[in-house]
Amino acid sequence: MPTNYQLPVLLYHRIVNQNCAIGKHKIYVWEKEFEKQMLYLHQQNFQCITFEDLQKDPIQNLNKKVILTFDDGYVDNFDIAFPILKKYDFKAIIFCVSKTTNNTWSNAEGEPAVALLNKTQAIEMRNYGIEFGAHTQTHPNLLLCRATEIKREIEGSRKDIENLLETQVISFSYPFGACNKLIKKTTQDAGYKFAVSTNKGASFFSEDPFQIRRIEVTPKTSLRSFKKKVSGYYFSSNTFFLLRFWTKKKRV
Ligand SMILES: [Zn+2]
Repeated sequence: MPTNYQLPVLLYHRIVNQNCAIGKHKIYVWEKEFEKQMLYLHQQNFQCITFEDLQKDPIQNLNKKVILTFDDGYVDNFDIAFPILKKYDFKAIIFCVSKTTNNTWSNAEGEPAVALLNKTQAIEMRNYGIEFGAHTQTHPNLLLCRATEIKREIEGSRKDIENLLETQVISFSYPFGACNKLIKKTTQDAGYKFAVSTNKGASFFSEDPFQIRRIEVTPKTSLRSFKKKVSGYYFSSNTFFLLRFWTKKKRV
């Protein structure tokens, strides 16, 4: 495998269909698009792995592997995404906000109130093999929190989910991708093994397991673009493209 290959870690939030309210933040993917994306992975013999799999076997061959992650833990992950994941025998990771039952943090900005997964749904998904990670207790921007709050949000959400699902939680997702040295250290000290951000982070997955860069799938992601996103060369091909663009511009 060429050295610039990176294990693709995709970021989803909601999977919706015609019956769902969609919001202005565009944090959704239509069910029929998601179905096409999963079908592509299936046809190409991709395997959807989790951080738990990586922890068990850190030196596995990462070719044709992808990590699917869902932030916030919306109820449509159970209603719409889960049946599709099961159809293809795919696993995923859901990062849950542990002390609220809907997306309170974004309602004020005009997002519709959407229910988060309940315990019964989460247990069913867990029993199937979905990994549950934490995404704080109340979804604050941790960069705006005091050290004690940061600790409570990061440690507390891990304990909440571990108690609820009677399982070990090893992964964490920073709300809004916001993190700094203190936040990363607090996450590490709380016992997590992996933490994901949004599109910022180390160039290579293995360089910094506490700021793993993800590739967002949005309502604008075409199948062509999705193929690039799971190729393992998404970030390196962007750098290549930008370099070519810059060189061309300089010549003019
Ligand atoms: Zn979030």
